[in-house]
Amino acid sequence: GKIIFNGEIKSRTDVKVDIEDRGYQFGDGVYEVIRVYNGELFAGDMHLNRLMDSAKLIQMKVPFTVAEIETRVKELISEDQLQEGIIYMQLTRGVSPRTHAFPTSDVEPVFVAYTKEIPYAGRLKPGAKGITTDDIRWLRCNIKSLNLLGNIMAKQVAVEAGCDEAIQHRDGLVTEGSSSNVSIVVDGTLKTHPASNLILNGITRQVMLKLCADHDIPYVEEAFTIEEMMAAEEVLYTSTSVEITPIITIDGQKIAAGAPGPVTERLQQLFADEIERQCGS
Ligand code: PMP
Repeated sequence: GKIIFNGEIKSRTDVKVDIEDRGYQFGDGVYEVIRVYNGELFAGDMHLNRLMDSAKLIQMKVPFTVAEIETRVKELISEDQLQEGIIYMQLTRGVSPRTHAFPTSDVEPVFVAYTKEIPYAGRLKPGAKGITTDDIRWLRCNIKSLNLLGNIMAKQVAVEAGCDEAIQHRDGLVTEGSSSNVSIVVDGTLKTHPASNLILNGITRQVMLKLCADHDIPYVEEAFTIEEMMAAEEVLYTSTSVEITPIITIDGQKIAAGAPGPVTERLQQLFADEIERQCGS
C-alpha cells in the first residue's frame, strides 16, 4: 500500500512517525474516514469539509485546500486500485518538543492518509445488538478528534458483552454510539439527537436526514431517553462503516418484535440508491 504523507504519495515503509508528533503524544489532531464504493468517494466533500471544520475548532491551520486533498486522495485510490473500502486520513498539529501549549506557527501540521479494503458484504444488514453505557467523554464531541479514549472505553464495554455497539447516554439521555449515531422510530417518526457539542454530526446521519426530507419520512432532531428508546418501534445506528443498520436488542432486551423495522429497511434501500447515484456501484 501507498500513503499520502504531507502531500506526497509514498510507500508505507518509507513513512516514519516522529516520537514528538503531537498526534502521537497528545492526540492533538483530527481525522476522517471516507467510504469508497466502486472506486469512488461517497460524500467526499462533506467529509473533507468536516475535516476542515474539526481543524478549525482546534485552531489548527490546514496547509491544504479541500480540492488539493481530494486530488491526492483520488490519486491514492487509483494507485492502490481500491474498489471497495475506506480512506483514513489524519492531521496532527505537527512535530515539536513536548509541551502542552501550541507550537510556534512555523510548525506545519502532519497529514497522513491511507486506504483499507473492505470486502463488500451486501447492503441490507441483519440486526445488531446494543448495550447502554455512560457517556464519559468531554464536551466537544462535535470535533472529530484523535482523542478517542472515551469512545474506545465504550466500545470495549460492548465487545465484552458480546454486543456490536455501545449506546452512550448522559443522565439517561441518549447521545450517540461509540463510533456511530443512534436514532429511534416512534409513531413512524424518526428521532435523533440534534447536532450539538454532545455528538459528532455524522455524515451518514446527515445523508439519512436528507433522504427523510426528500422522501417524506417524518423526522425530528430531538434527544430521547433510554426509556423511550427501549419502548421504540425501531432503533438504528449509522456510520460510514455500518451505513444504516437496525439495532434489534439492547441490554439483552428485544426492541419491539426484535426484528428490523419498515422505516429502517426503507432508509437502507434509499441509502443504497444514494450510493448507486453517487458512486454507480
Ligand atoms: N459518532 C462518532 C463518535 C463516530 O466516531 C462516528 C464515526 N466516525 C459517527 C458518529 C458517525 O459518523 P459518520 O457517519 O460520519 O461516519
